Amino acid sequence: MELWCRACRRKYGINEPIWRCGCGSPLDVHIDSQFPRDRIVKRRPNLWRYREALPLEDEVRVVSFDEGFTPLIFRNFRGFRVAFKLEYLFPTGSFKDRGASLLVSKVRELGIQEVVEDSSGNAAAAIAAYCAASGITCHIYVPETASSSKLTQIRMYGARLVKVPGSRQDTARAAFEAAEKSYYASHYWNPFFFQGTKTFAFEVWEQLGFRVPHNLIIPVGHGTLLLGAHFGFQELKASGMVKETPRIFAVQSENCCPLFRVFHEGLTYLPQIAKKESLAEGIGISQPLRWKQILEAVKSSQGTFLKVSEEEIVSSLRELSHQGFFLEPTSAVAPAAL
Ligand SMILES: [Zn+2]
Repeated sequence: MELWCRACRRKYGINEPIWRCGCGSPLDVHIDSQFPRDRIVKRRPNLWRYREALPLEDEVRVVSFDEGFTPLIFRNFRGFRVAFKLEYLFPTGSFKDRGASLLVSKVRELGIQEVVEDSSGNAAAAIAAYCAASGITCHIYVPETASSSKLTQIRMYGARLVKVPGSRQDTARAAFEAAEKSYYASHYWNPFFFQGTKTFAFEVWEQLGFRVPHNLIIPVGHGTLLLGAHFGFQELKASGMVKETPRIFAVQSENCCPLFRVFHEGLTYLPQIAKKESLAEGIGISQPLRWKQILEAVKSSQGTFLKVSEEEIVSSLRELSHQGFFLEPTSAVAPAAL
């Protein structure tokens, strides 16, 4: 197990307490994952059943709320037979618990006492909850204008809130500066967060009878779930568990779709976009850090980028609610693309 930089090819030990490369680029975990199926199926139905594929050295450090192994439900939707992975059924309400459980467990293993995260939504709630469970001090940077319901949840976990005037970018900058002297438990910078979100792929594989789907339709902003799923499917292939990986259809909202533009306009840079408000606030990311990596993942899967309008998000949300799924609008973006 090692930490690898894709930009400068430098490698670091897995237990170095760093969250980015000396060259300033993000890092990825390189791991030789194993999938002992006979043992996996006998374990508790949570994401830690794939422990031979997770970069933790001692299970004693695991911080878990029994998260993961979310249901995979088949429904007829808009003329298609679709498997819905119910990622809203997590202890703090989103798939971010995958990343938070893994990352905070690793933070404990590294002996780090204090972390920084910036988000006014699900990622901050997840990091705050797992830090609370492990006695780690957690500083959450939020825009001064952040809405109150998520902040209430974050506060309930005892996180220290730092309100930053200005834009979302200003908040990210303030957190980044604080993280230089601390440890950045970021859902888009930190390589261990993606080691948690990759378990999405393992669960889908197991729940489909140890097979992978032909197509994966997934919302994308920072790519926290998309890249995790990509890493997971790649590891299943590398270890000989599957021969193919799914074609990835990455969906953005029309009001904030930089990745859609890069892909379809053949751009070699991330365009400056005038971001408009969208119901899909969870993926309203105008400057995704790992944009090149996301593009490569989708391209290598023979997939594509799609975009949906606000009206399409609303009608998707309504149709899903009639099928028994009560979601936040960001999650309705993927079915909206069908
Ligand atoms: Zn580097």
